[in-house]
Amino acid sequence: MSDIRKGIILVVSGPAGSGKGTVNRVLRNSGEFEFSVSRTTRKPRPGEVDGSDYFFVSHEEFDEYLKAGDFLEYNEYCGECYGTPRSYAEKVVESGKNIILEIDVNGAEQVKRQCPEAVLVMLLPPSFAEQERRLRDRGTETEDKILKRLKQTEKELQRLDLYDYIVYNSTGESDKAVADIRAIVRAERCSRRRNTDAEIKYFAKN
Ligand code: 5GP
Repeated sequence: MSDIRKGIILVVSGPAGSGKGTVNRVLRNSGEFEFSVSRTTRKPRPGEVDGSDYFFVSHEEFDEYLKAGDFLEYNEYCGECYGTPRSYAEKVVESGKNIILEIDVNGAEQVKRQCPEAVLVMLLPPSFAEQERRLRDRGTETEDKILKRLKQTEKELQRLDLYDYIVYNSTGESDKAVADIRAIVRAERCSRRRNTDAEIKYFAKN
């Protein structure tokens, strides 16, 4: 039975250049959501802060956490490892707060298997052409990495069926994407699957 007192696990995936970092930052700063900081073996991009954007770790350290069972899910993406620390996510949800996991399709699948009540959102740029433009304008990746990430997008979109919701993040309108995600969470709170004991509670009240 689903427990309404528990927080919602909100998985937000999106291909490179979907703007998920920006959207998630707004949601995180709103105070309505906790944010799961992943561990990665990837090197920090300019401006990224250890412990806030990611916990940047070596491959050896990543393996240690893996052996200790402290990943809710993990995946290799374009040659680097990424994983969600298990203990933090469990603590947040038990305390009744919502948590955002900004993870890829493989990770989303693992989370859904373990926590079927998780809500999976795919954030998409308005089109593939716009995605490519954004990646090139960002200028943080080499041409080789950009091509790898675009190729990866084709694989990701083949697995859209896994997701409960699709949200478009149009250029210059990320506030609309944020509003859509807020609405999704609000609706989920009222969903029957999260209120399985509504009739018992209804008759028990004075
Ligand atoms: P980036 O290198 O652009 O920060 O992230 C690359 C991809 O890895 C993105 O799709 C991002 O959502 C995903 N990612 C980030 N953290 C995690 C994680 O903890 N687990 C999984 N499975 N994917 C992650």
